[in-house]
Amino acid sequence: MTISIIGAGYVGLITAACLARVGHRILCVEKNPSRLAILEKGQSPIYEKGLDEVLSEVFSQGTLRFTSSIEEASEHSDVIFLCVGTPSLPNGDVDLSQVEDAAISIARCSQTTKIIVSKSTVPVGTAHHLSQLMRRHSPHDLEFTLASNPEFLKEGVALEDFMHPDRIVVGCDQNQWRTLFEEIYQSWIKEGFPLLFTDTISAELIKYASNSFLATKISFINMISDIAENAGGRISDIALGMGLDPRIGRLFLQAGLGYGGSCFPKDIKGLMQTARNFGVKTELLEAVEHINADRIKHILHRVQKALGSFLGKKICLWGLSFKEGTNDIRDAASLTLVSHLLEEGAILKVYDPQAMPDFMEIFPPSERLSYAQSAQDALLDADALLIVTAWQEFKDFSPHRIKESLRNPLVIDGRNCLHENQVHQAGLSYIKIGEKSPR
Ligand code: NAD
Repeated sequence: MTISIIGAGYVGLITAACLARVGHRILCVEKNPSRLAILEKGQSPIYEKGLDEVLSEVFSQGTLRFTSSIEEASEHSDVIFLCVGTPSLPNGDVDLSQVEDAAISIARCSQTTKIIVSKSTVPVGTAHHLSQLMRRHSPHDLEFTLASNPEFLKEGVALEDFMHPDRIVVGCDQNQWRTLFEEIYQSWIKEGFPLLFTDTISAELIKYASNSFLATKISFINMISDIAENAGGRISDIALGMGLDPRIGRLFLQAGLGYGGSCFPKDIKGLMQTARNFGVKTELLEAVEHINADRIKHILHRVQKALGSFLGKKICLWGLSFKEGTNDIRDAASLTLVSHLLEEGAILKVYDPQAMPDFMEIFPPSERLSYAQSAQDALLDADALLIVTAWQEFKDFSPHRIKESLRNPLVIDGRNCLHENQVHQAGLSYIKIGEKSPR
């Protein structure tokens, strides 16, 4: 099939690469000139494991091309996926401007009707809203079909998730389009991945409900972790003991610095907006947010207690991306931590294997903030190591080398990712989430 995709960010680029890989002919529109320039060279502007290889494969097959022109995309195919951003507005509501702009541009230039498929996460009712908006902007008074096909990939394992999804959800209010989606996802259906076909409102709500539920699990375990930290239990054992119950499940019961990234924080807010619009109370989601916001204050309090004061203290930060496996720093815990620590007078040396270029654009190097060449380099002479992201190279790092490199043998593990026995054997003072601090 020929398919057009608008937006070549984390979702658009993975969607484009994977649909091209199974043989569809994809034209992907990207409006950011610097992103487009990298893409046109056959390279990826984002870090995602395996993506460079897939891009070079589909480039050599000729099944994926990039452009800046929505007109070209509209001529290329009658099926157009929207994969543009839907960030939060300052008041927490969803900013639909990228989605609306793309939809209006398609409506203005299309000579024939199209089916518009939103992979962007959009509030309940957006499909209906966009179909009216597009009709108003169509010079030919065309009626467009709007479908919702929310994306569930996780950054860091995005290709694997896209190729082996738990489910493919398609919402469309006209049943006759079902066969079109069965054709788009034929390779997945053949391999037995479930395709759930439903209406647009249900599909839009499935995405927000899924992300909000996962965020709720994280805040729940973080609340339990605070109890354990005071009562004296071990959060890893508690999470395992809970998670072995299949009704609870073991995934997403990892106590730590809380959730971040470009999806959970904004999607919780998006669901609250929808709930308010329909007169539904939002206390549960508000509590999830409050617990999450407190995580950073909580860890800073523990570090400060261990160090006495931050003033003039050299702190090494390992990890800046919101999670391992990605260079994405949107709503990452590191942003709040670095800004608080600098305000409190600390001297920071930070290291991340992928996210430093983007982080530097927000926090340029300064007298009190330097960027290290390696994890080892960041440790040298520091008063404490604070682990913010659980990159594999940090998990594999020898605790003995940490001990030799630090000036003061203090490790605060914000992701509980080091091997505890080895850390103790190395003689490090180790502060974990969900366990009492050592005396
Ligand atoms: P992103 O910001 O990385 O990518 C969006 C891209 O769209 C940008 O490159 C932007 O320049 C481009 N764009 C915007 N308007 C355009 C236009 N009119 N024409 C051409 N290009 C345009 O965002 P993302 O992380 O890929 O997220 C996209 C959507 O997918 C969001 O709604 C998000 O909530 C949802 N989502 C994201 C993830 C994730 O892990 N990132 C997972 C599931 C769903």
